[in-house]
Amino acid sequence: MNPSDYVADHVKSLPRSGIRDFFAIVSEMPQAISLGIGEPDFVTPWKIREASIFALEQGKTSYTDNRGLLSLRKEISTYVASFFGPEYDPQSEVLVTVGVSEAIDIALRAILNPGDKVLYHEPCYVSYAPSVTLAHGEAIPVGTVPGKSFSLDPEAFEQAWEPGCKILLLNFPTNPTGGTADRSKLERLAKFAVEKDLIVISDEIYAELTYEGEHVSIAELPGMKERTILLHGFSKGFAMTGFRVGFACGPDWLIEAMMKIHQYCMMCAPILSQEAALEALRHGTEDVMRMRDQYQKRRDFIVRRFNEMGLDCHLPRGSFYAFPCVQTLGLNEVDFCHRLLREQEVAVVPGTAFGSHGEGHVRASFSTSYEKLVKAADRMESFVGSLSKERVDEAAV
Ligand code: PLP
Repeated sequence: MNPSDYVADHVKSLPRSGIRDFFAIVSEMPQAISLGIGEPDFVTPWKIREASIFALEQGKTSYTDNRGLLSLRKEISTYVASFFGPEYDPQSEVLVTVGVSEAIDIALRAILNPGDKVLYHEPCYVSYAPSVTLAHGEAIPVGTVPGKSFSLDPEAFEQAWEPGCKILLLNFPTNPTGGTADRSKLERLAKFAVEKDLIVISDEIYAELTYEGEHVSIAELPGMKERTILLHGFSKGFAMTGFRVGFACGPDWLIEAMMKIHQYCMMCAPILSQEAALEALRHGTEDVMRMRDQYQKRRDFIVRRFNEMGLDCHLPRGSFYAFPCVQTLGLNEVDFCHRLLREQEVAVVPGTAFGSHGEGHVRASFSTSYEKLVKAADRMESFVGSLSKERVDEAAV
């Protein structure tokens, strides 16, 4: 049997995640400091864990309604109305999913016919292009640029549009650049989406982790609620990655289409995670703000240190990632990461793991303790210093 004959072509064509291979090496290095992981270093707040434990003690071990617990959907609807703006009917316009990951997958699968096109901005979260491929769509990345702090450029989307585009996939604040979108740019994008009759999938998983200005959801702009699927979840702001719970809000016909896939491939999100999410929305926002303040202090520190050591780094306005430029050091971003890990035992992720527009950059997550960040910054400074010395020595030969 030739294994290759049995793996679907579109799966064969998917690249392996560069991040995974790299972190297999990091896991073998006990002294390494990792700024590579895209998850909070905080443990889920105790009251949220306790709610899940209590639910287990009460014997809540069953499936739930495919759409999620009604109590949770109601709470999601209230939270979304107060934090993001639009109001959604918990009965028909809210779907609880297994993380935002599942929501992205089923939203794309629910909408795309083979060959339909998806516009999205890049550098971006690693799963976007593969998820489009798995849904038999065609990915059309639109670059955001360091000169504009990787912020959204509506004009670039307008220029990249081509017949067959069906979806505009957005993520603000952005992984890996920390970029956000202000209201005026979103208004222009909304106009573009209406003109071109696009459905918008708006991944706002880092919304609570916005440090500059207010978070604006495109779903709240006039004419957008009826063509937008708003995705959010508990992994980042509430530090609940392991619970695997998120949600989608959107027009009932789109939520119903997503539900059809969800009910066959997932049935429902785990009940204990849904109970935890309910507690998170009811009583967790103070904890979110406490963690957010810590991230902000760490952000200010690490961005300052990057710039002081000569790595040009814009201030990320949201998320917990800094995206410094390593282009001037005479190494590409992949070699930079490998040598930094080998020589100083600090792990950061090559920017190209997030698409070709991440070239010349690395992603450094500041969701790690302040003490570790200080050590990592000192080690990186030594590394950058040694690279500069190498270049001077080379020039002298
Ligand atoms: N969307 C973005 C932009 C992310 O960065 C991530 C995780 O890193 C996800 C979605 C996945 O989130 P979840 O844990 O809810 O599946």
